[in-house]
Amino acid sequence: DLSCPYPSFQARDMTTTHTMHYITKPPCDPKIMTFGAFHTDHMLEVDWTEKMGWSRPQIIPFKSFSIHPFAACLHYAIECFEGAKAYKGPNKTIRTFRLDCNMYRMKQSAKRLSLPDFDGAELQKCIQGLLKVDQDWIPDRPGFSCYIRPTIIATEEALGVRASSRAKLFVVLCPVGPYFPSGLKPVRVFCNTTTIRSAPGGVGGYKVAGNYAPTVMPLKEVQQIGFHQNLWMLPDGLVQEMGVCNLFFFWKNKQGERELVTPQLDGTILPGIVRDSLLELTREMKQFKVIEKKLYIQEVIEAISEGRMIEMFGSGTAVSIQPIEAIGYNDKIYEIKYDPKINAGELSQQLFDMMTEIQTGDKPHKWINQG
Ligand code: PMP
Repeated sequence: DLSCPYPSFQARDMTTTHTMHYITKPPCDPKIMTFGAFHTDHMLEVDWTEKMGWSRPQIIPFKSFSIHPFAACLHYAIECFEGAKAYKGPNKTIRTFRLDCNMYRMKQSAKRLSLPDFDGAELQKCIQGLLKVDQDWIPDRPGFSCYIRPTIIATEEALGVRASSRAKLFVVLCPVGPYFPSGLKPVRVFCNTTTIRSAPGGVGGYKVAGNYAPTVMPLKEVQQIGFHQNLWMLPDGLVQEMGVCNLFFFWKNKQGERELVTPQLDGTILPGIVRDSLLELTREMKQFKVIEKKLYIQEVIEAISEGRMIEMFGSGTAVSIQPIEAIGYNDKIYEIKYDPKINAGELSQQLFDMMTEIQTGDKPHKWINQG
């Protein structure tokens, strides 16, 4: 349900002001077109006040904001955001992937921060309008896409810690190259036993800005000791996520049956849209058990040590599938070997290919909105 209990902004009221100064587009080179390095020509903006409700949505030339130094988002992280992608199909159509799910998740995040609710279907239409205006920015090369970043910030100009009476919703776009220019590349992850990302009762299940700031120092620290990402868990070893990805383990259980296991949505992990998609795709395959459960690091280590772990990977919009080849846990490194020809497990490669085909192929799909 994407509806809103009070009047929302409407896509039909949206106005568009075209830029007078088109920006030169970067070359489609994965080394240059890195994540979040370039913005497109336009952005979407909608303002909200407690008194007046939502303003009309506006597509305007991309610009910097002027913001009051007391604005609540600058002090207390009263801000939530989303991450989605649009692709160009072979016939030059714009394909958005499960944008309705991002709208739903953003509504949940906004409510958790007492930011204003909105009609998600209307925001989706506004974003599709923005994509149309900036369609020349959506690369039509395989592996390239246009990242969509909707954000809501609290803009009340007062230092009290309370629900903001003003907010700004904006959406910016950036062209991005493939995460893996030359095939999948496995990462090494470190089980962080001193820092936790999210605890029961906290906000780990929402995409709120405050979840991310405390992760940058631990990320720098693990990178200094030769790992790519942190594996987040609770002090008792309950496995949660890896960096900004959900986690999947493909193993043989003690009875020798193949299972795909992912941590269950317990409120401490983000309900990933790629996670949900992979669960559906693998359940449809009917080739092995697909399980969401409370998963402990001891079970993961045991499966690797006993040679039962077949594949491990993270999932997320930015990477799609991120294979994992090593886990650092309590001063030891537990590794699994992949076929050096594909640098990933067979299932990881197969799922990556299925997702890529859905996103950038020319076939209609229930997860794709074409425009
Ligand atoms: N976990 C976290 C903490 C994230 O920030 C993300 C990225 N949104 C994910 C998981 C993956 O979610 P999704 O599949 O919706 O991109």
